[in-house]
Formats: sequence, structure tokens, C-alpha cells
Amino acid sequence: VTNHNHISALEKIIGKENILTDPHDTAPYEKGWRDDGGKAAFVLRPHNTNDVSRILSYCAKNNIHIIPQGANTGLVSGSTPDTSGAHCVLSLSRLNTIFHIDPINRTAHVGAGCKLSALNATLEEHGLYFPIDLGADPTIGGMLATNTGGGRFLKYGGVRENTLGLRAILSDEDGTLIDLLHPCRKNNTGPDLKHLFIGTSGAFGIITEALVNLAPLPQQTATALLIPRTPESVNTLLMEMERRCGNYFSAFEGMSGEAIKRALAHSPTLTNPFGRDAIPNYAILLELTRTWTPRVGEQPLTDILESILSELWAMPEEPLENALLGDPAKLWALRHALSEGVQKSGKLIAFDIAFKRGDVMNFLMQMHKQLPAQFPDIAICDFGHIGDGGVHFNLVVAKDDPRLSDNSFETNLRRWVYDCVVREYNGSFSAEHALGRKNQMFYDLYTPQNIKNINHKIKNLLCTGEISAILL
Ligand SMILES: Cc1cc2nc3c(=O)[nH]c(=O)nc-3n(C[C@H](O)[C@H](O)[C@H](O)COP(=O)(O)OP(=O)(O)OC[C@H]3O[C@@H](n4cnc5c(N)ncnc54)[C@H](O)[C@@H]3O)c2cc1C
Repeated sequence: VTNHNHISALEKIIGKENILTDPHDTAPYEKGWRDDGGKAAFVLRPHNTNDVSRILSYCAKNNIHIIPQGANTGLVSGSTPDTSGAHCVLSLSRLNTIFHIDPINRTAHVGAGCKLSALNATLEEHGLYFPIDLGADPTIGGMLATNTGGGRFLKYGGVRENTLGLRAILSDEDGTLIDLLHPCRKNNTGPDLKHLFIGTSGAFGIITEALVNLAPLPQQTATALLIPRTPESVNTLLMEMERRCGNYFSAFEGMSGEAIKRALAHSPTLTNPFGRDAIPNYAILLELTRTWTPRVGEQPLTDILESILSELWAMPEEPLENALLGDPAKLWALRHALSEGVQKSGKLIAFDIAFKRGDVMNFLMQMHKQLPAQFPDIAICDFGHIGDGGVHFNLVVAKDDPRLSDNSFETNLRRWVYDCVVREYNGSFSAEHALGRKNQMFYDLYTPQNIKNINHKIKNLLCTGEISAILL
């Protein structure tokens, strides 16, 4: 059976206008944010859960390998086809209905293709938002599939902690619907199967709808940049902030000077918060939020932050070298511009890794010491969610570096870094971007065989057809 036959059959299922075959039309679905992408046999764009079920049933019966795709902002080549031309992209972007907002339950029932920005725009009038914050605009389904973390994980947790329920379609001959769209916050009636689909990159099924937790929109925000005196001072500052700010504390984001310089160079509209002062080696973006406006006689949040910073200044171990209060919008604009600034400054070799919190700065210090000896002439441009132990450990190599023409250079470098993360620190080789073709070999390398066996059995139990870019 040729692609042509499959396309005709699938046209009958979802309509001709919802299948893309022209290379010009399929191109945007073939290349990821940070990968060169591949070639799709064709692209399917269903409108609802029922369409997805019928597509998966047909594909399972006909051995068509499907790659689910949301907004395609993932960073590990999980949402794009490989170069074989044998994979078909299933875009969920049209499942973008916002079905229901329940302000009392503080939940939203949305289609998997609904964009985060669209959901938050709709929620504004209810004074609510989906509290996962990041510098991209993903779909809710993609966020569930990757268990997105983001900048306010410290306060709200990740997607896993903010999902009440979902609907998913299995890749089997029936295109079975698994309905786990339960509205209760408490529900201990057996294993919580929704977690099979959260953070597993589509390998166990396609998420078509989700019921997500909402949080009251902050009405006051105060931000500052902290410059720690030493790398070790970062841990002191983190613990002190948690103790002194309690539930107001919402972000503690680390930014290396190298990453800041590249963001400022790439985006001329950004304001340099350090003015004429030198850009420090490391700065922390700190945020406090409160869900009410100042009451009569109550200190505004900025004043509270200022008092806390004075307390930190006065500490005998002197963890602070400097601190600058700043406009939240401007400081977050800088934070969110780091990713692109670093990417545009050379050939980027990026690692999304995590540690227990006390190890983050130790790892960074070790890398600054050892990397130049092992792999010279590479800039370390890290930043990350260090309040929860996450680091975007970005290495930038000059684009014309002759080592890049040798494929083994990047593989050896990755292996060397990940070995240190996983074997020396018991850290994670994929903190929040989940799995895709880019890190498949490290799943194969570091996942214990008995865990791989369980994953494989679950996959075989749920799916007879092939879905996802990853092999479990
Ligand atoms: C500038 C930038 C900043 C970022 N910052 C962060 C950050 O701070 N924290 C963070 O965690 N991530 C971050 N990311 C990564 C990315 O945005 C998240 O992983 C995002 O949640 C992916 O959503 P998406 O809709 O783009 O999914 P896609 O990229 O389209 O897909 C991601 C994965 O999910 C699968 N998938 C997509 N939709 C479904 C579905 N409905 N059912 C089953 N599987 C599906 C895909 O096959 C793929 O494996 C950032 C990305 C960029 C570009």
C-alpha cells in the first residue's frame, strides 16, 4: 500500500483539507525549534478527539508511524519526523477549543491544541491563570506530554502537579479513548493513570483534552537581581528567601553573565539592568508575588522585598555582593531572551539537566574548572531554574570551529557532561524537556534495564501502532 492509498483513506476520515502533502505546506511541521528536522510522509490536522481516534485506529492497522506535534517548541526533537520520510506528523493544533472554565473549582477544560497564551488571555477576566511560565508559547497538550517546568515551578510545581485529568487516545486498532477527565481534586480510587501520559512525550498515547488547575493572578509583583558574593552564597540566599518570604516567593532564576551578554547583544530592545556597571559573572532573578493589592496600612510588596534585601545585606556571612530592584516586565524580558540570545551566538550544544539543589553550583564550578582542559574554547552560557535544581547548561562553540565537522565531537562532549551529571551527581539528563530523538541515546544509556523493561511492557500493553519519536 502506498502513501497515496493511505492519504486517500485518511481523506475520507478527516477530509481532504485536513491533510497536507505539498512539501511547501508540510515544511513548517518538519523542522523543530532547535533541530534541522526531517521529512514527513504527510501531515494530519484533525479537529477533535473523535478524529484523532479514527486516525490512530487507521494508522495502527496500517503500520503508519505517527509523530504527535503541538506548537513544536520542544527542544529535544520529539515533535518532528526523522529524515526517513516514513513518519507522519499528527498536528494537534486544531484541537484548540476552550470548553469550560470553572472559577469555583479553579479549573479549565481545554483541547490539547489550545495555546498557553490563548488560555491565559481567556482566563484574565476571571482573575486566574495557568501558572506554568516559560519563554515559549506551547500547546497545553505539548505541555502535558513534556511535563513542562518553567520559571515558577518553585511555587506552583510543574504540569504534573497542575493537571486534574485528561483524555487520551491509544494507538491501537480501535483508537481507544481513555477518559480520565475527572474534575475532583481528591480521587483515590486506584492508580492515577493520567500520569502515564504526562511527561512521556506521546509514547503511550495522544492527549486530546486536559483539565488543568488554575491559580489566582498575582496583583503585586516585586523583582530584583541578586549578585551572590560566591557560588556557595547562592544556596544561602535561596534558603534565606524561602524562610523569610514564605508563600510570596515565586521565582529564583540563575543567569550566567555569559548568557546575559549574549541576550543583550542579540536583542537591542532589552534594557541592561546593570547600566554602566560590569555585567556580573552570575545573577539571580528573584520574584515575590501576592494575589491582592496593598491594603490600607499594608506595606507594598516592593517595600517588603527591599526590607528583606537589607536583612540579607546585614547577614554576617555576607552572601550578597549587590542587589538591584527592577521592573518585573523588564527583568523577565531579559530572562526570557537568554535562550534565543545564546542560541544565536554560535553553535549551541544545550543540556537540560537537574540536580538536588545543593549540587547545582558545585556542578557549575566543576565544569568551569574541567571543561577547558577536556574541551577547550567553549563558552559556558548557563542559566536556569536553580530554585528547583534545574540548569540549562548551554555550551557555545564558534560556528566555524573545525571540530564541528566531526560528528564524534558533539557526541563525546555530551557523553562527558551527562556522565558527570548522572554518574557523579545522581542528577537527571532531562530535567523538563522530556525525551525525543536528541536524547534517546542517553535514555538507553542511563535508564536501568528493569525500568526500561517496565516501560516497554506498558507501551506494548497500550499500543499496537507506532507513535512518538522516542523508543521506550
Ligand atoms: C524559548 C523557549 C523556552 C522554553 N522554556 C522552557 C521552560 O522554561 N521549561 C520547560 O519545561 N520547557 C521549556 N521549553 C520547551 C517547550 O516549550 C516545552 O517542552 C513545551 O511544553 C512543548 O510544548 P509544544 O506544544 O510546543 O509541544 P511540541 O514541541 O509540539 O511537542 C513536544 C513533545 O510532546 C509530544 N506531544 C505534543 N503534543 C502532544 C499531545 N497532544 N499528545 C501527546 N504527545 C504530544 C510531541 O510528540 C513531543 O514529543 C522552552 C522552549 C523554548 C523554545
